[in-house]
Amino acid sequence: QDYLQHIHNENAAINAYVHLDADKTLHEAQLADERLQSGMSSLLTGVPIAYKDNFCQDGWVTSCGSKMLENFVAPYTAHVVQNLRNKGMVTLGKVNMDEFAMGSTSESSYFGITRNPWNHKHVPGGSSGGVAAAVAARLAPAALGSDTGGSIRQPAAHCGVTGIKPTYGIISRFGMVTYASSLDQAGPIAQTAEDCALLLNTMAGFDERDSTSLERPVEDYLRDLNQPLTGLRVGLPKEYLEGGLSADVTATVQNTIALLKSLGAVMVDISLPQTEFVIPAYYVIASAEASANLSRFDGVRYGHRTDSFSSLDDFYSKNRAEGFGEEVKRRIMIGTYVLSHGYYDAYYVKAQQLRRLVSNDFQAAFEQCDVILAPAAPTAAPAIGSHSADPVQMYLSDIFTTSLNLAGLPGISVPAGFSQDGLPIGMQLFGNYFAEAKLLNVAHQLQ
Ligand code: GLN
Repeated sequence: QDYLQHIHNENAAINAYVHLDADKTLHEAQLADERLQSGMSSLLTGVPIAYKDNFCQDGWVTSCGSKMLENFVAPYTAHVVQNLRNKGMVTLGKVNMDEFAMGSTSESSYFGITRNPWNHKHVPGGSSGGVAAAVAARLAPAALGSDTGGSIRQPAAHCGVTGIKPTYGIISRFGMVTYASSLDQAGPIAQTAEDCALLLNTMAGFDERDSTSLERPVEDYLRDLNQPLTGLRVGLPKEYLEGGLSADVTATVQNTIALLKSLGAVMVDISLPQTEFVIPAYYVIASAEASANLSRFDGVRYGHRTDSFSSLDDFYSKNRAEGFGEEVKRRIMIGTYVLSHGYYDAYYVKAQQLRRLVSNDFQAAFEQCDVILAPAAPTAAPAIGSHSADPVQMYLSDIFTTSLNLAGLPGISVPAGFSQDGLPIGMQLFGNYFAEAKLLNVAHQLQ
């Protein structure tokens, strides 16, 4: 009730929540109360949580920030949401996102832009902008986001909260609406690394309904918090740090290095030579997969249906023309182009080859260091509207996040400082496969 009251009072200013259902929330809270009384509770029982609007929960609208799914009520629950429900977590509502998770600013949602709680003239980052804004504005103690090319880590950084993208395959994608299947991964955003570890303990786990879900022993992600960092080798990628960063971000990198050194870590200069190809490779692969995945939204199998049409072709065409926004259409066009006969080898196959080389870069780097330090974005959160005229500028701002998805590696973003005008700046730590516990420990000690 307390959270719903806060949301009622404060959501209008930032537009983090887009779907609320107080009756459902209070009913879930009631069930959590009963569970507490019966002694069947866990640490998470009764703790409220918000979901990015691309996670299905039975009976809740799941609109992915799109007119296409404006009235779609999910008939089933995502595996990760069910895991949290099984512990008694209470759904506060669905939060805003770039349409179908395509974007870095949360400006492309059909339900309007989300504003950065620290400064309403700035974006909260994206695509999980509603997730990060809700947690930063204390309208949820935690929230679930998805990260295809940075969408957990970058908005967490822009809003001064903590977010982790785990190794690909650790959290089931069943029930999370697909953007680019080989890159998508769910993960928590919360105030601290410790809260993220606690949530990850419940979110992770094998699920036979996701063919890329990993079958591996259950881990306790809290286990390494407070392990000493003495001798920890932190890699500093020269391609990330040599230019292109705002003065504020450069200063924050230097402060974080000093803090890590004071905790006993040693810095190692490393190189990630394919960095200049990461953005083109990512946008070719992500758009290719999106163009195939979004074909199901045709007004017949799923989605918006036009009022009037003259033929079957006209029907499909109008359903999609009316249902999708500009950025989604752009991605579908790019994806269809790079997959088409005659261009497939020139673009798609090349991007897949680059993807392998990006992975190889990381494996070579992890022979020299235990974790890699990287900015989350080249600047603090941009002003609303500053990227809208030039989508390529927006794509380029993903330079420090997308490589991790191409390789399937884990990464965490932690608050690390502020810009001159008071906007939060976050730093990322990358780890090798299954290094989540190590990343959470380093992040915990930086807080
Ligand atoms: N900004 C990137 C894109 O638009 C990443 C988005 C995401 O991680 N969902 O594709």
